[in-house]
Amino acid sequence: GLRINALKIDPKAWQALRPFPLEPVPWCPTGFYYSADSRPGKHPYHAAGLYYIQEPSAMAAVEMLDVQPGETVLDLAAAPGGKATQAGAALQGDGLLLVNEIHPGRAAVLAENVERFGIRNAVVTNERPDRLAERFPAFFDKILVDAPCSGEGMFRKEPQAVEEWSPDNVRRCASRQDAILDEAAKMLKPGGKLVYSTCTFSPEENEGTVARFLDRHPDFQLVRHRLAAYFAPGRPDWGDGRPGLADCVRIWPHRVRGEGHFVALLVKSAEEEACFGRHATGSENRRGQGWTGTGRSA
Ligand code: SAM
Repeated sequence: GLRINALKIDPKAWQALRPFPLEPVPWCPTGFYYSADSRPGKHPYHAAGLYYIQEPSAMAAVEMLDVQPGETVLDLAAAPGGKATQAGAALQGDGLLLVNEIHPGRAAVLAENVERFGIRNAVVTNERPDRLAERFPAFFDKILVDAPCSGEGMFRKEPQAVEEWSPDNVRRCASRQDAILDEAAKMLKPGGKLVYSTCTFSPEENEGTVARFLDRHPDFQLVRHRLAAYFAPGRPDWGDGRPGLADCVRIWPHRVRGEGHFVALLVKSAEEEACFGRHATGSENRRGQGWTGTGRSA
């Protein structure tokens, strides 16, 4: 698929100009399927940043984060930048996007993609999550953790993912995900939203990671997003059995036109702010239109 860049081109104008036959991706208003022979990655429009080549299932996570102009947003594991550019476009130049990548070489690619997309309100960092957390306590309205994972959902597309897979690697990924999520939790404002996503099927890295996170962070709640209607529910029996895990999303490649993904939307309680006597809990509540910390859907 490809996702058009609303910072550079009006999605409606794109319909008239398009050099490739496209079909909409149902869960992403700027996402389209292209035919295998059109090769949009080779077109000068790609070099000009008019679109990003992105696997359609991967478009769901940022849609579920519901990024709004004016917010402070962190993409903690961001390279090469598919989801980061999607979040940047959603900000429409208003607010702040911090995109981070731990590996220096991949951070350089990320910076190139952010620049190609014309995102001017972005900062690109090359840091460990714990070092960022020291600097940005309770700072962000929205955080995306698109975690390093065992990549089972990419087996069909990337043979290398099959070669790299092992039970040990699944366990290592799960414990790395726990550590990254703990740092993300520190950086989220009370009332803020955290989206956790992977491109793997393994329960240990999906429902398992979410269940362990909720055990360690009782101030967070899993929330069902309206886009969940397009996908399969999470499997409580593959986590620790808690029914709420059904509010996660499993994207199965035999059910939709896309590869394998998992997405969970978590909301941090607004309580802490109330204790300190402040009024606003996050950009949504400031606007008086959003989640209050007690609901189960978004
Ligand atoms: N969100 C990206 C996109 O849409 O293009 C893909 C991110 S990829 C699934 C996960 C990223 O996490 C990789 O770029 C990897 O280098 C990075 N990573 C690996 N170990 C990490 C760690 N300990 N902390 C943070 N990020 C890490």
